[in-house]
Amino acid sequence: MSHTAVVGINWGDEGKGHMVDLLTESHDVVVRYQGGGNAGHTVINEMGKFALHLLPSGVFRKGVVNVLGNGVALDPENLWKEIEELRGKGITISAENLKISDRASLLLPWHRLQDGLEEARLAEKKYGSTKQGIAPFYSDKYQKKTVMAGEMADPEAFAAHLEELRTWKNLTLRGVYGAEPVSRETLAEWTVKYCEKIRPFICDTGKLLREADSAGKRILFEAQLGALRDLDFGIYPYTTSSNTLAAYAPIGSGFPSAELGEVLGVVKAYSTCVGEGPFVSEMFGEEADRLREAGAEYGAKTGRPRRVGALDLVATRYGVQVQGATGLAVTKLDVLSYLEKIPVCTGYLIRGRQTVEFPFPAELADAQPIIRFADGWHCDISGVRRFEELPPAARDYITMLEEAVHCPVTYISVGPERGSIIRR
Ligand code: GDP
Repeated sequence: MSHTAVVGINWGDEGKGHMVDLLTESHDVVVRYQGGGNAGHTVINEMGKFALHLLPSGVFRKGVVNVLGNGVALDPENLWKEIEELRGKGITISAENLKISDRASLLLPWHRLQDGLEEARLAEKKYGSTKQGIAPFYSDKYQKKTVMAGEMADPEAFAAHLEELRTWKNLTLRGVYGAEPVSRETLAEWTVKYCEKIRPFICDTGKLLREADSAGKRILFEAQLGALRDLDFGIYPYTTSSNTLAAYAPIGSGFPSAELGEVLGVVKAYSTCVGEGPFVSEMFGEEADRLREAGAEYGAKTGRPRRVGALDLVATRYGVQVQGATGLAVTKLDVLSYLEKIPVCTGYLIRGRQTVEFPFPAELADAQPIIRFADGWHCDISGVRRFEELPPAARDYITMLEEAVHCPVTYISVGPERGSIIRR
C-alpha cells in the first residue's frame, strides 16, 4: 500500500494543519513522526478553532486512528494538558483513537529547564528556541539518556531508570549552569501527575501500522516545521533538533519500510519565519507590518510576531527537492489580495555573484534577495473554489511558482476555514 506525507517546504507554519485536516477525510491513520510540542498546527472546523501542539491533526475525524511515533519528543506533561483541553471542548480522545509508540522517548522535566538555561547563557547568540526542551531532549536521546514510553510497563524499573538520569542531569544543571537541581519529589510528582495518565495510550505502534498497511488502510504522515528547519538539510544551526523531511517519516513513525506514494509539500504564498537565523527575503518596517497583519502571523505556540517576507523561490525550490515533493499545496493566497504588486525573491546575490541555487548555510548570511514583482489581483478570492475562477493574475502567480520550483500545485488554500480550498 502506498501512503501520503504532508510536509512543510519552508520554515514551518505553512498551514500544514489545514491540509492534514482536509486529507484525513480520505485516510485511516494519521501519524506524527518527529518534533514535539514546540510548534503548533492550527485547525479550524465546525467544532471551533484549535491549536494542536503534539497531537496529530486526525483527532477531529471520527474513525481515524492517531499515532505518536517513536521519532517524536514525547512530553507527558504537555501532551496530557493538550488532551484535557481538547476533551474540555468536546473532542473524544481515547485509547481507541490515540496510540503512543512504546519506543517514543520521554521529554523529561529538566529538558525545558535546560533549554531556558542554555538560551540565557547564549544571550544575544541564542537560537530563538521556544524553550520547550526539544534540543536537550534530542541530544539526550542520542546519548541514550532518556527513557522510552514502553518502560512504564514496569513501574519499579521505570522509577529506577529515571532516578539514575536525574542524578546524572543534576551534575549539568548544578555544575554548568549553577541552577537548582531537580528533586526526587519533583520527579515522583511528575510521574504520577502525567506519566500515569498517558500510560493507557502506549502500545507497539509499529505493529499497528504494519497491520493497517496489510489491511489496505491509508496512512497519512504529518510533519512539524519545514524543510529549512531539518537538522541535517536545513539552515544549521538554526534548525530544529529532528528531521522534518518526508524521508524520515517511515522511520520516525515506526514503520521503516513504509512506501510513500505521495509527498504533499505545503508552501505559503509568501514567507514567514519564527526565531533567529538567516531569512533572505525578509521584509521590514511598514511593508512587513501590513503583511503580518493581513496574514495574522503570530506564533501558534508562543504568540510571537513572525518575521515575514516575500515568497522565496530559491529556498522553495530547495525545499521541494529535499522533501521529494510530488505535489504542492499553496496556502494563504487570499492574504496577498491587498497588494498592487507582489514581491517575489527569484535569486540571491552573494558577494557579487548571482545564484538560484540554495547555498551552504554559512553563505546565507551574505545573501541579498533579487526581487521581481508579480501583478496583484486586488480583489477578494476567499470564496473561489475553482482554479479557472481565480483572477488571471492569481493564476499566473501559481503558474509562475510551479514552473520555478518544478512541481505541480495541486491544492490552493484561500481561507483558514475547512473547505476554503481549490483542488486542481
Ligand atoms: P502549520 O503549523 O503549518 O499548520 O501552520 P499554522 O497553523 O501555524 O499556520 C497557519 C495559519 O494560517 C493558521 O492560523 C491557519 O488557520 C491559517 N490558514 C491556513 N490556511 C489559510 C489560508 O489559506 N488563508 C488564510 N487566511 N489563513 C490560512
